[in-house]
Parts: sequence; C-alpha cells; structure tokens
Amino acid sequence: MLTSKDKKNTSIFVYYLLASTLVFSILTLIHSWITFNQVQIIHFLIPVFASTVVGYLLAHNKILQLELIQLANTDKLTGACNRLYFDERLKQEIDRARRYKQFFSIIYLDIDHFKRVNDKFGHGTGDEVLKSFSKIVKSQNRESDIFARFGGEEFIILTQMADKASAYNLYERIKKAVKDYEYKPSEKITFSAGIAEFDIEEDSIQSILERADKALYKAKEEGRNRAVIAD
Ligand code: GH3
Ligand code: MG
Ligand code: MG
Repeated sequence: MLTSKDKKNTSIFVYYLLASTLVFSILTLIHSWITFNQVQIIHFLIPVFASTVVGYLLAHNKILQLELIQLANTDKLTGACNRLYFDERLKQEIDRARRYKQFFSIIYLDIDHFKRVNDKFGHGTGDEVLKSFSKIVKSQNRESDIFARFGGEEFIILTQMADKASAYNLYERIKKAVKDYEYKPSEKITFSAGIAEFDIEEDSIQSILERADKALYKAKEEGRNRAVIAD
C-alpha cells in the first residue's frame, strides 16, 4: 500500500529535481548574459531543457508506478486494503514477530445482519454503509495498522505491537465510533469481532486466521455486537 511517506518522498524528489534544474538554468543564463555569448546560451539551454523533460518523465513514471501498485492493493468500494495485500503483509508480520520476538494481533470484523440493510434500504445504501464503516474503522487505527476488506461485509485489522488486551481496546474504540455514527438513510449498525494474538510458538498464517474466525463465530452465537478473544 502506498503510504503517505512514499507520496511525500516522491513529491520531494520531483520538487528537488525541478528546483535544481531551475537554479542551474538561471545560473547558466546569467553567466551567458554576462559574457554576451548568444551561441553559448543556446548550447547551455538545449541540455538543460532536455534534462528537465527527461527528469520530469522519470518522476512522472515513478508516480504512475506507485499509483498502479496502490490500485492493485486496494478494495475498490471502500478504499481499504484488499485480501491479497493483507495476506502478504500478514506473512511479513509473522516473519518479523518470529525474528524479533514481537507480538501482534488480528481482529476479524463482520457487520451484524447486513443482509437486512440491503433488503430494507437497497444495495446502494448497503454500499454507502460499507464505505462509512471502513472510514470509521480507519479513523481509529494507527498508521502502522493494516486494515483490509476480506470480502462482502467482513473486514480484518492487523495491529502491530499489540497484545490481545490492546487489540480489545482498539475494538472498543471502533465499537463506540461505529455506534455514534449516523448512517442515513440506514439505521444504526453493529458489528461482531474475533480477536487473536499471534502465538510465536504455535501459530501459522492459517491458524491465527482460523482462531480469529472461530472467535468471531462465537461472538455471533453469543448474540452479536460484541468481541470474543481467541484462547
Ligand atoms: P450476520 O450477522 O450473521 O453476519 O448476518 P449478515 O446478514 O451480515 O450476513 P450474511 O452473510 O447473511 O449476509 C451478508 C450480506 O452482505 C449478503 C450480501 O448480499 C451482502 N454483501 C456482500 N458484499 C456486498 C457489497 O459489496 N455491497 C452490498 N451492498 N452488499 C454486499
Ligand atoms: Mg455479517
Ligand atoms: Mg459475513
């Protein structure tokens, strides 16, 4: 996913390139004017112009490349990461956790009775609810958290350096923000969650996802609008 840091670095690169070319051009012009040498002006300006164009095209190409990567990693409707990207980052996070003995948790989120929203208010409103829900969850996440749409009305968060208690705190913050939001024309929505902390000794990519999924299933069974922490 293209982070704000990547965007900032690209902008700095473009500004630096254009600014340095501008300074070089001005100095060249001043020098040529002082020496009153018209031919020299043209000889200097051609490479300056050519290098500006090439530099601009290179920078532009880099930005397009970053935008394409971002598109490939993003869910079109909600702007959250997609599952492909999440799986890749989960793999990386597991490697990191094992190497540096760090912990992290995942939170599975599933909107309660979402089918009713579609049935009652139409698919378009359902889509708007999914967009708002994603926005609210993102607003509660830290920049280092990875938030993805897993499909339909199911989402997942990978929260770095967080044990299950910290993950539960995050869940409570999201729950409050989701509860406070006005989903016009839809009524209030709730969601259920399954939380699993990565176990360095026991867990694999599949097992942590399964544990979180089972916890989510339990939260649904116990009446929804709650979170269950996996053993
Ligand atoms: P539960 O509380 O058990 O999770 O019930 P639910 O109704 O949320 O779950 P269920 O799996 O029965 O229904 C999910 C619904 O989500 C069905 C499907 O039409 C809807 N859905 C999936 N993707 C989208 C989407 O992109 N947009 C809209 N509007 N609806 C979607
Ligand atoms: Mg649901
Ligand atoms: Mg579901």
